[in-house]
Amino acid sequence: MDKKYISLTDPLYEYLQKVSVREPDILRRLREETAGDPLAMMQISPDQGQFMTLLARLLNARRYLEVGVFTGYSTLSLALALPSDGKITACDISEEWTSMARRYWKEAGLDEKIDLRLAPAADTLASLIAKGSEGSYDLAFIDADKENYQVYFEYCLKLVRPGGLILIDNVLWGGQVIDESNREESTVAIREFNLNLHQDNRVHISLLPVGDGLTLAAKPLH
Ligand code: CA
Repeated sequence: MDKKYISLTDPLYEYLQKVSVREPDILRRLREETAGDPLAMMQISPDQGQFMTLLARLLNARRYLEVGVFTGYSTLSLALALPSDGKITACDISEEWTSMARRYWKEAGLDEKIDLRLAPAADTLASLIAKGSEGSYDLAFIDADKENYQVYFEYCLKLVRPGGLILIDNVLWGGQVIDESNREESTVAIREFNLNLHQDNRVHISLLPVGDGLTLAAKPLH
């Protein structure tokens, strides 16, 4: 094998899921209900959810910040993994999508752990900083409107603690990042975000081909 990476085929991806994913029943049901939505592809995959919860466990995370909730699969995955005194701040603007999310959070008995803020995420993040939450989150996940990724990243970098981690989703954007003829606003924004982050010495980074591309950006401890 001369390649240093493997391209997943559908059967190989199915195998990967079969031998690694341990999806709780409530997450499976949430995923299946979301599958009826035309925007269901916005939901993270079970293997990505499990990977994120593993990272949360490795960090001993107690506080998780989510930018972009959709129907709450990642939120609930993390809520299940955080300790009983764990807290989640979740930002979204959609009443409709998050109402499904809230139904499942409540059923899991974890709604008390999750502080849902229905407002533009940049406003919520700015108010968290204004209220003294700087450096208080262990883990952040950015998965909202791509045009504002850099804005969200700057806020998250302030809000996570030294040694904390920021995850950025969809950084390969279905492969469109390398199609220079694609000048869509979201594509251009992700491309610029990736280039900026590559030069950003404030964080240690790794871009993984998980889901639609997931970048890990760690804030140095010292
Ligand atoms: Ca996403």
